[in-house]
Formats: sequence, C-alpha cells, structure tokens
Amino acid sequence: MKAIVLLGAPGAGKGTLAEAVRDQAGFQHISTGDILRAAVRDQTPTGLEAKKFMDAGELVPDSVIMRLVEERIAQGGPEDKFMFDGFPRTLAQAEMFDATLAKLDASVSQVFLLEVSPEAIVKRLGGRRICRGCGAVYNIAFIPPKQDGVCDSCGGELYQRDDDKEATVLNRLEVYNRQTASLVDFYDKKGVLVRVNAAGTPQEAVRDMLSKLR
Ligand code: AMP
Repeated sequence: MKAIVLLGAPGAGKGTLAEAVRDQAGFQHISTGDILRAAVRDQTPTGLEAKKFMDAGELVPDSVIMRLVEERIAQGGPEDKFMFDGFPRTLAQAEMFDATLAKLDASVSQVFLLEVSPEAIVKRLGGRRICRGCGAVYNIAFIPPKQDGVCDSCGGELYQRDDDKEATVLNRLEVYNRQTASLVDFYDKKGVLVRVNAAGTPQEAVRDMLSKLR
C-alpha cells in the first residue's frame, strides 16, 4: 500500500490538485472533508455530530476522523494507492495514522506541502463556488463560470460552502495555524516533506507536484 498526504491551509488548492493527481497518477483521493460533507448531507449520526464543528470552522474530534479514515482504508481499492487530502490535521491524528499504517506494513511516503500566502487564501475561499450537480469547483474571481451561478459542464446550480463565508474562513485559517501547521515540522523531521508552489495557477501546482512525486 502507498500513502501520500496533501498538507496546506484551507484554500491552498488541495482538492483541485488531488483530482488532477488522481486522474494522472492513479491515486485514490480520500478527503475527510468530502466524507464528512456527505455524512452531513445524508444526516448520518456521524454527520449530525460533525456538523456543528464544521459550521464553526473547528476541527471534528480526532476519534471520529480516525474511524472514518480506517473504514475508508479497509474498503481498499483497485490499486491501494491512497492520497489523503485534509487529513491528518492534528499531531494526534498524524501519530494515530502512522500506527494504522504500520499495522498494514506501510508508512506515509511523501507529504506535499502546498505553499501559498494567507492573503491569496482569503480571496480564493471567499470566491469559491461549487456545483450542486457534479461537484466542479469555480472561483468567481479567477475561474468564473460562463454564466453566473450556473455550472459550465452540467448546468447545475453553483453554491458557496457555509464554511467559506468570511467569518468562518478566518477561523479555519486560525485553526490551521494553531493545530495543523505543526505537522510541517513533524513530517519534515521524518524526511518526507515536499514543498509545492501553490501560489500560481492550479495547472502550475499540478505540474510542480507531479514532477516531485516518486
Ligand atoms: P475541508 O474540506 O478539508 O476544508 O474540511 C472541512 C471541515 O471538515 C473542516 O473545517 C473540519 O471541520 C472538518 N474536517 C475535515 N477533515 C478533518 C480532519 N482531518 N480533522 C478534523 N476535522 C476535519
């Protein structure tokens, strides 16, 4: 089994990068945020528990996240090549993740840190719009749809994630700096940290990451 991690502040472009790497390098994309949003939409017990944290821009408890990740890994997949997006988010998650992988005789092989300025992040998140139909991601400032509020590819309605509204964005950034940024050091010390320039276009970031992917 191969496991890589995408690390970076909310809005650094992890989701967009993950889709490209999934398509071009055959990794399965595991986004804990996507799993949680699906659970909230389906009103499962986990979703109901997670919603209050998500709406506030706070982290969902580690125990909940670890259960979701372990369930997802157990489902496996055609190639057993996994790319984690938005996970781990705390030191405790990173340590538990190592233990989970060790049981499978695996370890995190590379951690890609997406580097982008805080100013750019606030702009990106505030402008992000997502299609209700196909999940395509737009940005009203950088990658606008041809017609306002309508998805170019499927005609679906575009919406703004509740947690992309300004007050929550600022809190999510604060939470990142307080709880997640320490993972940079954690993985750097293990010698698996790889820096990706995510300040330019999504295509540039994808190219940079793919050139560094082992
Ligand atoms: P994301 O789509 O990765 O930005 O995640 C959206 C929200 O889901 C976050 O603001 C958290 O509330 C929650 N979440 C996602 N992944 C995690 C995680 N690994 N640990 C704790 N909370 C998470």
